[in-house]
Amino acid sequence: MTKQADVVVIGGGITGTAILHELAKYNLRAVLVEQEPELAAGTTKANSAILHAGFDAPTGSMKARMNVAGNAMYHDLKDELDLDIRWSGSYVAALDDEQMAVLQELLERGNANGVPGLKIVSGDEMRKEEPNVSKDIKGALWAPSAGICWPFGLALAFAENAVINGAEVIRECQVTGITVEDGAVKAVETDKGTIETKYVINAAGVHADEISRLAGDDSFQIHPRRGEYILFDKTAQKDLVYSPIFPTPTKMGKGILVCATTHGNVFVGPNAQDMPDSEKDDTAVTIPGMDDILDKARRLVPNIPVGATITEFAGVRAVSSTGDFILGPSEKTKGLIQAAGIQSPGLTSAPAIAKYLVDGIVAETGAAAKTDYKKGRPAQPCFRMMAEADQKALIAKDPRYGRVICRCETITEGEIVDAIHRPVGARTVDGVKRRTRAGMGRCQGGFCGPRVTQILSRELNIPVTEVRKEMRNSYMFYNKESGGKA
Ligand SMILES: Cc1cc2nc3c(=O)[nH]c(=O)nc-3n(C[C@H](O)[C@H](O)[C@H](O)COP(=O)(O)OP(=O)(O)OC[C@H]3O[C@@H](n4cnc5c(N)ncnc54)[C@H](O)[C@@H]3O)c2cc1C
Repeated sequence: MTKQADVVVIGGGITGTAILHELAKYNLRAVLVEQEPELAAGTTKANSAILHAGFDAPTGSMKARMNVAGNAMYHDLKDELDLDIRWSGSYVAALDDEQMAVLQELLERGNANGVPGLKIVSGDEMRKEEPNVSKDIKGALWAPSAGICWPFGLALAFAENAVINGAEVIRECQVTGITVEDGAVKAVETDKGTIETKYVINAAGVHADEISRLAGDDSFQIHPRRGEYILFDKTAQKDLVYSPIFPTPTKMGKGILVCATTHGNVFVGPNAQDMPDSEKDDTAVTIPGMDDILDKARRLVPNIPVGATITEFAGVRAVSSTGDFILGPSEKTKGLIQAAGIQSPGLTSAPAIAKYLVDGIVAETGAAAKTDYKKGRPAQPCFRMMAEADQKALIAKDPRYGRVICRCETITEGEIVDAIHRPVGARTVDGVKRRTRAGMGRCQGGFCGPRVTQILSRELNIPVTEVRKEMRNSYMFYNKESGGKA
């Protein structure tokens, strides 16, 4: 492959996809390359999924600016892109006078950052809204503008809209080099070939420092900090909490919270473990980590439904050596634009980061806005949420909607086939899971996994031995007769 682009975005997480969505509004040939078969395969798939209000980061920092702006932008994007967001508000809980003083600091910082509606409430006021929180909570900072979201769905929505507006997403395409001549970017080298371009946007998550070095800029490092979680079945303690409940923060982060997902599961986490730089992709979970999370979560909400645990997982924060997001043109290499060090609140900040960076490119190139730009994306059928009459009509039109594949979540074959053939469609079992919820229930895909594999094999026209769980080499079956060859 040799191709030309005006802008190449490296990394298909929330940052890269939000940037692609913004680029697609202009007459620019925009290409996003992602090394894995699915988008949002890095940190974007494993985090607390909170659209933060914006009182944590120091006033004036990029984190604070992008957080508050991004949170506001999601209010419009929710309808425009049909995003899975619930504006739940959030609490930071204090257990003693010292922590109450921290709440006051957060309130003042939040006001300075421009966060709307912050107020400190008493423990009793909080318990009226959240009856399951600890009686030891003395007071809390209430942030009405916070929300919870489905991060994979957000990234996918950005990418789908970009693709229907002419942008290109190339998956399983790993960047291996960046050609720089006379101090300026000329091309991106990948394991699929060369893309000639003048602009590269580095949104490679925990690997952003390595990408930057490929282009001759070694001005920062990214250190991995892992956070582990425990997720509970949605039938257990369904209404345990409505809003995210944070402890008062420490210098390691926002602390271990108790939260619900937009789909009604409860989860607890994350802890904060600094990892060696050689282990940026280590998302293993540990027994001491689980004990630590449960111990701290119970201080906020005593009745954690441990017996209903359905899975544990971990995500890795991209902690930058500068302490802030690194955004904008490299000072060393012309055409290299950094979107690096995007740790929390990166999910919340993504649309604001995208606008900030793309505005810079548009100002420099003079690119015109597309006159035929299309808002939105194709509607995604959700059988279980439909009225009975609509379900019957859909089955009459397409009998595949009458075959339930995932019984825990009531997901039909029709929805799975749609997920595979949508723009930037599912290529793996987890890709189907994250688009439809097939495999997200109590049995975690134990029953529907093989059937989803068969459907992927049939729809993608590949042998079952080539169907993967999620990542490039995560093959699940092998052919005994041929000694493992497909
Ligand atoms: C424990 C935890 C909790 C968090 N909670 C929140 C929260 O509640 N709210 C919030 O706003 N933020 C939160 N965050 C932060 C948020 O998750 C991240 O800021 C965000 O997901 C980063 O997205 P990204 O696109 O920059 O990186 P990623 O999602 O990691 O994407 C980078 C992509 O680049 C690809 N890539 C890397 N190298 C190459 C290469 N050579 N070639 C091609 N592709 C490449 C990777 O495969 C990956 O898909 C949390 C983070 C963690 C870890």
